[in-house]
Amino acid sequence: MSSALDRFKQHWARISVLDQANAVLSWDMETFMPEDGVHARSEQVALLTELGHRWLVSEETARCIEDAEKETAGCDYFSDEASMLRVARRAYEQKVKLPDTLVSRLARTTARANTIWINARKKADFSMFAPVLSEIIDINREQAELLGYDGHPYDALLDLHEPDLTTAETDRLFTELKQGLVPLVREITGSGTIPETGFLSQKFDTAGQERFGLRVLSDMGYDLRRGRQDRSAHPFTTSFTPYDVRITTRFDEDDLLSALFSTIHEAGHALYDQGLPVDLVNTPLCQPISLGVHESQSRLWENIVGRSRGFWKCYLPVLAEEFAGQLDGIGLETFYRAINRVTPGFIRVESDELTYNLHIFIRFEIEKELVSGTLGISDIPESWNTKYRDYLGILPPDDAQGCLQDIHWAHGAIGYFPTYTIGNILSAQLFQLAIQTVTSIPSDIEKGNFITLLGWLRNKVHRHGSRYTFSELVRSITGGKMRVGPYMAYLTEKFREIYT
Ligand code: ZN
Repeated sequence: MSSALDRFKQHWARISVLDQANAVLSWDMETFMPEDGVHARSEQVALLTELGHRWLVSEETARCIEDAEKETAGCDYFSDEASMLRVARRAYEQKVKLPDTLVSRLARTTARANTIWINARKKADFSMFAPVLSEIIDINREQAELLGYDGHPYDALLDLHEPDLTTAETDRLFTELKQGLVPLVREITGSGTIPETGFLSQKFDTAGQERFGLRVLSDMGYDLRRGRQDRSAHPFTTSFTPYDVRITTRFDEDDLLSALFSTIHEAGHALYDQGLPVDLVNTPLCQPISLGVHESQSRLWENIVGRSRGFWKCYLPVLAEEFAGQLDGIGLETFYRAINRVTPGFIRVESDELTYNLHIFIRFEIEKELVSGTLGISDIPESWNTKYRDYLGILPPDDAQGCLQDIHWAHGAIGYFPTYTIGNILSAQLFQLAIQTVTSIPSDIEKGNFITLLGWLRNKVHRHGSRYTFSELVRSITGGKMRVGPYMAYLTEKFREIYT
């Protein structure tokens, strides 16, 4: 007779495999599916999503978890058995609070919101989007009440994307970072130094960009036998199991840097997913901890490694050879400063490493107020623009370049944005520790050797899957809590040096 734990694992594996099949269909939709396939595909994805939700919140899941918990009661807190049941119980208890009717209402509303948002953005008219956004906020508030929270209703929404993080803690971290960043950005933009970037304004053959990107990908340790790179309108990473982790990118011959850094960014995500524990495939532990931890990996590789002087010491000659004649006379210093140019702009996804977080603060502050009801929907454009003026010193000329630029709200995702900055903060703390422990990492990077850095990340973060919560992971690595200090010090040192 099989044990209760085995029965639980079998049940959970079915839910996981269904999710993986759904993810393959979604990946195909973004990459190879012909345009008209969308009608049938939305139904396929919706059905699998509904089935997955139903299986997860079923009485069978509750029974499997409970029986296995009884059977493994004596196990260590961080053992495989206790950890997978803890993660499963958490997922079950969260999702079971959300009735099918609310889940499908949110899905229907966001499907409609997507088209409305596209049109509103085209016309740069927020008032077109306002009514459906109002519905989305209402559903999210309802969701927050059903999920429950101790402090702010935003806690419950944040918890969907970043379990273990409260609004109060996010407030504290962001306030500390903002107090350092806003004056630093002012200092940099007022310094009078403007890095030379003219050489980037030429056409760079996209086949060459792809070849160079693939070289960097495989040097980083992205395993192409367990992954592949395709093209999509918006770059993303999707993972079915650690054996099949795919990334996408887009190429633009007028923009050399966009594809390059998005490739490194997505590869950072993919390395995490490929490093998840294969012996725990299809259990609740073979998954990342949270969006913030995921983002800490992509941003560590993209910014701290990919935009460093050491990295380009190795790769600028390779790039110059790929684009023969186009980068002649561009030295390491010129290139390094160009790829780190700070320009406060309106569009978050195009922003530089330094100003990026200011965009996030604005969205977090507005979302929080929308959820608590202290800000009305119609007041969003004014609040948005005032904050852009105060934090970035610029005033969006219209709603398209202002509060209509991101798709997240149309997707119904409230509480998602903070995870980007959480990832940034964590990335610096992790890197600081990595180079303290393995002192050869900086010189290895200069040689295009990433084995030491990847090995450290694999050992400290990837191989644990979701055994730890966010704060347990940080404590296990640093002995304490996540701190803003290392990130602020990294930014200050890097950008002061470039701009003085
Ligand atoms: Zn990312």
